Amino acid sequence: MIHQSEISSILDGYDREKITIATIGSHTALQILKGARDEGFKNMVICKKGSADVYRQFGLADELVIVENYKQVLETAFQERLIERNAILIPHGSFVEYLSPARIENELVVPMFGNRKVLDWESDRNKEREWLLRAGLRLPREFKDPADIDRLVMVKFPGAKGGRGYILASNPEEFEQKHKALELIDKEMYTLQEYVIGTRFYPHYFYSPLTDKVELLSMDIRYESNIDGIARLSHILQDSLPEPSFVVTGNLPVVIRESLLPRVLEMGQKVIETSRELFSPGLTGPFCIETVCTEDLEFIAFEISARIVAGTNLFINGSPYSQLLYDVPMSTGRRIAREVKEAIKGDLLDEVVY
Ligand code: AMP
Repeated sequence: MIHQSEISSILDGYDREKITIATIGSHTALQILKGARDEGFKNMVICKKGSADVYRQFGLADELVIVENYKQVLETAFQERLIERNAILIPHGSFVEYLSPARIENELVVPMFGNRKVLDWESDRNKEREWLLRAGLRLPREFKDPADIDRLVMVKFPGAKGGRGYILASNPEEFEQKHKALELIDKEMYTLQEYVIGTRFYPHYFYSPLTDKVELLSMDIRYESNIDGIARLSHILQDSLPEPSFVVTGNLPVVIRESLLPRVLEMGQKVIETSRELFSPGLTGPFCIETVCTEDLEFIAFEISARIVAGTNLFINGSPYSQLLYDVPMSTGRRIAREVKEAIKGDLLDEVVY
C-alpha cells in the first residue's frame, strides 16, 4: 500500500489555486464534473472513445482525455500528467472495478478523494462483515455448508457483477442441482446468505472529517431485472417462474418513513465510528449501506459501498434530504467538491485525500 506520506508530499507540490477534479467517464462522472464546476474547480474526464460523446454532449468537462484502456491511468507518464494538472481523482464504482483495488492501493500515486485503506475492507466479504457486525448492524444469516440451508438463501459469487449470476435455493438439494448447472469460473467461491424479505433502502451518506458529521444526502432503491419484472406477473407465471436475477438496470428515488430516520442516521454514524477503530482515520466521504427493512421495521444490511454510488445520479439537483441541509442543489458529486474546497481553505487536504 502506498504510504500516506508519499501522497502528502505530492499534494505539497500542488498549486491549491489550480486543483483539477478528475474522474473516469462512467458511473457518476456527470454529477462529479458538474459538482466540481459548481464549486469553482476545473475538471477533467478520462474516457474511452465510445463514451466520450456523452461528456461532450453535456458540455460539462473542461478537459476530456481519451484512453484505449482505463488501466492506462496507472501508467507512470499518465499519472505524471495528472499530477502536473494538480489533479484529485474521485473514485466511483466503475473506477475501482476498472483499475482494481489492489492496483489502486499499490500503484496509484495521484491523490484520490477519501481514504484508500477502505478498499481492503470493502472488497473482502469477511472483513466487510466484521466491520458491519462491529458497528452493531444486523446482517443476513450466512451458512458455511450448503447442507445447512434451511431457508431461502442467495448464493453470491465474487465475479457476479451487479447481481448477475446469483442463484436462489431453499434447501441443500436445490442448491446442488442449480450449482451443478452453473458455468462460472469461480463457482466454488460462494457465500450463502439468507434472503431477507422486505423493502430495500439504499441510503447515501457523506462523512466529513472536517465537521465530524455524517450527513444523509439522499436515498434510492435499485431497479433490478428480472426480479422487479417478475413481481408484476407472479400471479400469472406461478409454476413457470424463471430463475430470478438481480442485474441493476436503473434506480428509483425513495424517502423513508420519518420515524425510521433515527435508525438510518445511527447506522451511518456507527459505521463511521467503527471504521475509525479498524482502519484509522476510517471511512471518509460518500458511502452507502445496502439494506432491507423488514415488516418489524428492522434494517438488515447486506453490503456497504464505501464511495459514491450510482443511485445518487437521481439527485444531481439535490434530494428532499439534501435540501434540508443545504440551500443550493447539493448532489453527492457536488458535496465531494465542496469538501475539497473547504479542506483547501483550512489547509487540511491531507484529511480528505489519500
Ligand atoms: P449485491 O450484489 O449484494 O449488491 O446484491 C444485488 C441485489 O440482490 C441487491 O440489490 C438486492 O436486490 C438483492 N440482495 C442481495 N442480498 C440480499 C439479501 N440478503 N436478501 C435479499 N435481497 C438481497
